[in-house]
Amino acid sequence: MPFVMVSDLILNRTWNAELIRTHFQQHDSDNILRIPLSLRECDDDWCWALNRKGEYVVKEGYRVAMEDNLAAISDHSFLWHLIWKVVVPAKVKLLIWRILRNALLCKHNLRVRHVDIDKCCPICGVGLETDFHVLYDCSFAKSCWLLSNLGWVSFSSLNTMLSYVLTSLSMSQREEVFMLIWSLWTHRNDVVWNQIFQQPIYVVNRARAGLEEWQLARLHFRVSDSCTKPLAAAVWQPPPLGHYKCNIDISVQTNGSYGLGMVVRNSLGYCCEGQHMVVPGLMDPLLGEVLCFREALSWLKSKNYFPVCVETDCELVVNALNSPHSDSSYFELMINDCKALLHELQYVSFAFIRRSANQVAHTIVRAAGSFSDFDWGICHPLFLYDALSFILII
Ligand SMILES: [Zn+2]
Repeated sequence: MPFVMVSDLILNRTWNAELIRTHFQQHDSDNILRIPLSLRECDDDWCWALNRKGEYVVKEGYRVAMEDNLAAISDHSFLWHLIWKVVVPAKVKLLIWRILRNALLCKHNLRVRHVDIDKCCPICGVGLETDFHVLYDCSFAKSCWLLSNLGWVSFSSLNTMLSYVLTSLSMSQREEVFMLIWSLWTHRNDVVWNQIFQQPIYVVNRARAGLEEWQLARLHFRVSDSCTKPLAAAVWQPPPLGHYKCNIDISVQTNGSYGLGMVVRNSLGYCCEGQHMVVPGLMDPLLGEVLCFREALSWLKSKNYFPVCVETDCELVVNALNSPHSDSSYFELMINDCKALLHELQYVSFAFIRRSANQVAHTIVRAAGSFSDFDWGICHPLFLYDALSFILII
């Protein structure tokens, strides 16, 4: 085989699929073709593979070096008081306590206790269902962690991971970790007992919303003895007269592809145009979110909606777009593509929107999951009528 550089495999900012399939096995070719490419010419760069930012920090190096030592600690008594200090609902703390006591009733632990049950992970159908697998190492759990603010780095066990969380992360990060573990375990039980599968983004958002609502209720309980009112869901607001809004959302398909949905509405809330597309992906929802944003900008470039505000329910994307800092990660590469497009499209702004207010875009990617790519104009698809009428009535 002749010597081939990575740059030889790229033609006009897209992968040269024919050449790739000539040089690589099908499995490797498929994986290469799923890697999104930047729209810009970029220099090669070094990056640290063990965190999402791609940057080496001493703390990370220390964590990797200390991991084995932490794993060797069998007496977790010093961790108990740290667990109880984390400000999350008691049921969540109890779940963490069970995990550290190796008392979570996952299939592996049930089999150890002589319960005659299959050992397969009910979510991915591949791994042995240990507590570590279902809450951290399963492909589904990994997608959830990648979507959270914490990312996913390699650990050898849940005990090691929790030891690290409790001794090295901030209090708010500990809260987020605990809540996500709780949400993952709740999802696992929904799958086992009710056959209800959800998208990773749902599991992550439930963890966030659960914590937010519990903290608000707690605060309210402190300042008033009266009964707390149920929290109202955020509602989508039309743009000002003469302006447009473009709402976007993604879904992660089981084959690793992303469904990307976008819809433009005017100041009356009417749907002007929309699009759904499926792109190959690598089961990283965060990368899917930023890809969706980039595709929406490219799509709007060819349209005549201005001024227009792109709304996404991925706060990490909005924060990254607003941040002057950059790193060596793939995510940041895509963010920089978006920044370049935003610079070009001066009439496009962007904003974070609560998930409950992003229902129309959410409906598109969920309902259109079984369709191939399609665009529509003012005659929007039937499955959107309910979601749109809900917005208009409000
Ligand atoms: Zn699994």
